[in-house]
Amino acid sequence: MSSVAELPLSEVVEAFRKKSLSPGEYLDALTERIGLLDSSLNAFIEFDAVLARSRLARSSGGPLGGIPVAVKDNIVTRGGSTTCGSRILAGFRSPFDATAVSRLQTNGAYVLGKTNLDEFAMGSSTEHSAFGVTRNPWDRERVAGGSSGGSAAAVAARLVPVALGSETGGSVRQPAAFCGVLGLKPTWGRISRSGLVAFASSLDQIGIVARSARDCGLLFAAIAGNDPADSTSASEPVDAALDRIEEGIAGVRFGIVKEAVEQLTPGVRANFEQAVAILEGGGARVEEVSIPSIGHAIAVYYIIANAEASANLARFDGVRFGHRTSDARDIRSLYFRSRGEGFGREVKRRIMLGAFALSSGYYDAYYGRAQRVRTLMRRDFSNAFERVDFLLTPTTPGPAFRVGERVDDPLRMYLSDIFTAPANLVGIPAIAIPSGLDSDGLPLSLQVMGRHFSEGELFRVAYYLEREGGVEPMSPPAGA
Ligand code: GLN
Repeated sequence: MSSVAELPLSEVVEAFRKKSLSPGEYLDALTERIGLLDSSLNAFIEFDAVLARSRLARSSGGPLGGIPVAVKDNIVTRGGSTTCGSRILAGFRSPFDATAVSRLQTNGAYVLGKTNLDEFAMGSSTEHSAFGVTRNPWDRERVAGGSSGGSAAAVAARLVPVALGSETGGSVRQPAAFCGVLGLKPTWGRISRSGLVAFASSLDQIGIVARSARDCGLLFAAIAGNDPADSTSASEPVDAALDRIEEGIAGVRFGIVKEAVEQLTPGVRANFEQAVAILEGGGARVEEVSIPSIGHAIAVYYIIANAEASANLARFDGVRFGHRTSDARDIRSLYFRSRGEGFGREVKRRIMLGAFALSSGYYDAYYGRAQRVRTLMRRDFSNAFERVDFLLTPTTPGPAFRVGERVDDPLRMYLSDIFTAPANLVGIPAIAIPSGLDSDGLPLSLQVMGRHFSEGELFRVAYYLEREGGVEPMSPPAGA
């Protein structure tokens, strides 16, 4: 049964079409594999075989007919729970599906289950989940990354062919990198945020975890595009993402971000240079470019993200959603105690930092200044995109770290996002592409950033690297 569960999405679609495999049989195979592996991975917060089967029974035909998709548990789904990895949403039931989810359903797909995450997507390791850490399929002692660690681990361990995650500063790309799968952060506004529980609205996007460029493109084509329910969604027509995927990269101009590669460890540098050499082998032109402001990205990100989070999370007050304290004397203590009992440590830390950065007297010094640096960063990126088509960095400064290694050191944890946060601040699309293993056998990843709305071209680069360039989609060691 396992071998059926491990088929890539394109082969599953084909097998359904030829009727050599039925969606029900496929769900059985995945259910069996989840039963075998998820007790040690903890990728799912909610997997209920009966619920999944009823969703399959209600699913329709379409390009993704009968295809299961795992959904990060900060994206709302009707039926079942949506927890955001938090105790404060215990018992919450969404009355509607997120637009990305309903579009998947329109295309025939169904929700297999809900995946684990750092509470409210705040973190880089999934250790800040109220439901326990997600472990890395390549090495159970290591984190799967975060905050979409559950989605990345589920796809890497072949518990599901594709998954939705969310991105605010790297939460799809970083776990995808740690787990050896592909992760897409689309252009801000490209995929509707309706039904994505807000963390930092000017940075948030739903993203995709997949095993190949084609799979990623298939899902993207199904969910991208303008949505009346999200007034910030872009009205540009969606690039026919898959049409040009096989065109190759001859003559395409890539820029290596000088400031990013200066600080690499020898192992990561060697892996990065190897990926660059593969691109050059395909006729790409590669040069160094400078993004002087990139060194400020982490500081700017953590001011803006936390400021927006402190406002967005005000809605969890014990009145409207989820957990309510049993010990309230008046309205004030109802708010205080419900929030105090419901939120975990990292979320509280961020609400405090964000509220501080927005408080009178400090607003200009922190938030205002961060927004000005963000503008400079946009300028640096648009200057770079006048010279080159894509920018390259490693996705992360190193491979997956050990469980427990950084959880008590927030600043070190925050530095995991050093290469990913800039794309969120600037609003451009970026993709994490597996680039082989390090000397310990752990996955490393190449990040390619493109101009706004260039997702189709990112799939082309990813496709080239995986098919022509010899960087095959990797599977974790046997028994994963
Ligand atoms: N790791 C980053 C953070 O902790 C990014 C999170 C995300 O992209 N949701 O904020």
